[in-house]
Amino acid sequence: MPARKFGTNQSAVSLARSKVQSESEPKRRRFVDSPANRWRNLLALGPAIVVLVLGMTTFDGVRRTRESRALVAHTRNVIDGAQAMFSALQDAETGERGYVITGDSTYLAPYVSGIATLRTDTAELRALTQGNLEQQARLDSLSPILRERLATLAAGVASRRAIGFDSAASVVRSGHGRVLMDSIRTIVGNVMASERNLLDRHQAAEAVRGGVVTWILLAGTATAVFLALVLNGLLLRHAQTEARLAHDLDVRNTQLEEQNLELELQSQQLQEQAAELEVQNEELQSTSDTLAEQAAELEMQAEQLEATIRALDDANQVAESARAAAELANRAKSDFLATMSHELRTPLNAIAGYAQLMQLGVPEPVPAAHHEYLARIQQSQRHLLGVINSVLNFARIEAGSVVYEMGDVAIAALLAEVEPLIAPQMQSRGHTYACLPCDPTLVVYADPDKVRQILLNLLSNAIKFTPSGGQITLSAEALIDEPTEKYAAIRVRDTGLGIPPEKLSTIFDPFVQVDASHNRAAEGTGLGLAISRELARGMGGDLVVESTVGVGSTFTLTLGLVMSIETANKTTSPPVSEMAT
Ligand code: ADP
Repeated sequence: MPARKFGTNQSAVSLARSKVQSESEPKRRRFVDSPANRWRNLLALGPAIVVLVLGMTTFDGVRRTRESRALVAHTRNVIDGAQAMFSALQDAETGERGYVITGDSTYLAPYVSGIATLRTDTAELRALTQGNLEQQARLDSLSPILRERLATLAAGVASRRAIGFDSAASVVRSGHGRVLMDSIRTIVGNVMASERNLLDRHQAAEAVRGGVVTWILLAGTATAVFLALVLNGLLLRHAQTEARLAHDLDVRNTQLEEQNLELELQSQQLQEQAAELEVQNEELQSTSDTLAEQAAELEMQAEQLEATIRALDDANQVAESARAAAELANRAKSDFLATMSHELRTPLNAIAGYAQLMQLGVPEPVPAAHHEYLARIQQSQRHLLGVINSVLNFARIEAGSVVYEMGDVAIAALLAEVEPLIAPQMQSRGHTYACLPCDPTLVVYADPDKVRQILLNLLSNAIKFTPSGGQITLSAEALIDEPTEKYAAIRVRDTGLGIPPEKLSTIFDPFVQVDASHNRAAEGTGLGLAISRELARGMGGDLVVESTVGVGSTFTLTLGLVMSIETANKTTSPPVSEMAT
């Protein structure tokens, strides 16, 4: 597994490399295939072409110059040959004259050598002018005159040798020789002039060619230099581009190497992670096995649960039918209580009425001893009526038929209202009663009759379960600890018997009394607190108790607050009304 991961990274490296190559390759191809580059290639051939043209031109110029020189030399040779030929003729003439004049044969030496040279020179001249038809024609015309002149010279020499000076002198004086010499001079002069003319033409042509070659060389050299400079510039740019590309490649290579290192590092980390994953995989496998076992167990439990649910469903159906039966019974109970209420209260009211009439001596006075009996009858009647009222109240609450007439209730006024109602009981028990002043703006949202009923019940209990001479305090304050839930707390505190801790949670249940014995001091049904708490909760509040046996109890009724927090925050002052008996 790790090897495969490493392989993946290797391929990532080669991928990164090929990416760099593929990035740089098109650049290079663009550079090679670009039109500018084709022009540059052509320009690179330019100097070579120019040099080739220059070479060919130079070679042709040199060849032509060599030909011109040969022609010039040839022309000069012709001129020299013509001059030499004429000079040899003059030498022969000079030798003939000297011999004619002196008769000295030593003068014949230049004559003989002159003739020999003349023949040689004439032959050479003919050979030299072989391709020149004009010169050949001139030489053709010269040959008979030369022969004639040599004949006249030979005639003079022969005449001097054979006859003597006068004969020879007459030959010379005839002037024929001079005429021949003039003709020869003229022809030789024409030959030389023609050659000079040729020479001039050759030299002029050579000068023109030389100028052309020079211009070609100059222009070619300038072009070559220009092309070389342009090419040099292009090559420099090319070299710069190549250098930039090389630098880019170096940078990319460096980056690639760094990436490679990073990838290798990551590869190592991946290998380590792979090992960790393998360990985790094993752990997961064992967890999976455990889970599978647990799943099997859960499946079993689910089956059991299903069976339980089925059993519960059955039980629910049983409960539902029981609840329906209970509701039926409850309705029957309510009907019964309503009926009984009427049936019980009517005779009880009659008992109270007749007892009161008897006490008042209607229709006739009763003996004094019967007054006490009548008082007990009245007390029992009130007690029974109270019991019946409590039972009916509770039955109505349980049946949910109590109607709450909710509204804003000013607590201070309500507390003041209850005081005269419980004053006689307080006095009969010798208790001290204090109603602490509370904020007159303390207003709760409640049904005032129900609040009054609860407070009377709590105060009545406090009176009942506090030994004579006790202290009973009524107070009210705002509870503003929770900004969103604002309540008013109305407290009834006594210094009575207190309630054992184990009974605190049950005294709010119906028919529960701490002392349920028949011979207990206080009367009661055990329904007062149950009714009070139900009423408190019915108004959105609650009723709770704190108590210590032998010290006293505090019952707190909480109700929803209507007033503002600022007003509620006001501090309380000492009691303004106290009642002691
Ligand atoms: P009753 O007063 O009719 O017995 P309640 O429901 O009002 O019924 O009270 C239930 C019981 O709670 C009382 O019997 C009494 O034992 C106890 N109790 C109620 N108020 C006080 C109190 N202020 N001090 C001590 N015990 C009390």
